[in-house]
Amino acid sequence: MDKHAGAVSELVDQLGRLPGVGRKSAERLAFHLLRVPEAEAIALADAIRRIRSDIRYCQACFNLCEEELCAICRSGDRDTTRLCVVEQPRDLMSLEQSQAFNGLYHVLLGRIAPLDGIGPDQLTIDALVDRVRNGNFSEVIMATNPNVEGDGTSLYISNLLAEFPVQITRLARGITAGSVLEYANREMIADALVGR
Ligand SMILES: [Zn+2]
Repeated sequence: MDKHAGAVSELVDQLGRLPGVGRKSAERLAFHLLRVPEAEAIALADAIRRIRSDIRYCQACFNLCEEELCAICRSGDRDTTRLCVVEQPRDLMSLEQSQAFNGLYHVLLGRIAPLDGIGPDQLTIDALVDRVRNGNFSEVIMATNPNVEGDGTSLYISNLLAEFPVQITRLARGITAGSVLEYANREMIADALVGR
């Protein structure tokens, strides 16, 4: 039998589905939300609603944004000759926080993972090739994660881009092989960019 009232129990269930949140944490969060000022709790609910209704992918780079183009693509201050290819929007965020890169990005929205049934067609690789074909990039930096699937994805894309007059580089291994970009710290990412 559930020991919580219906709505609390429902919230605990929902929170408990989030990655890394166990039953105990879900209960702690639910009771925290009951204690904070109502406006604060509602702001969280609104933020969740907004990311599902307002957020979409940038039409150029597939970063998350609320307009047709993301802030990076709209900015006039970026180096448009350098393109950094990442797997996910959160990787882009990690690289931005390192402040070591001022070019443009391309988000693949995943990586080639044959074992999970994810092939090149499910990623934004066609759009990437079009961008490189039509843009004036001199360097494409492959910043996929340094693991088997990330390396495979990088190699696949490098082969596709070989016909274009761009230099293709890879993040230096300042980021330990097997680790994930998302969790790398700012200094490690900056080192990997500088040492590419
Ligand atoms: Zn963009």
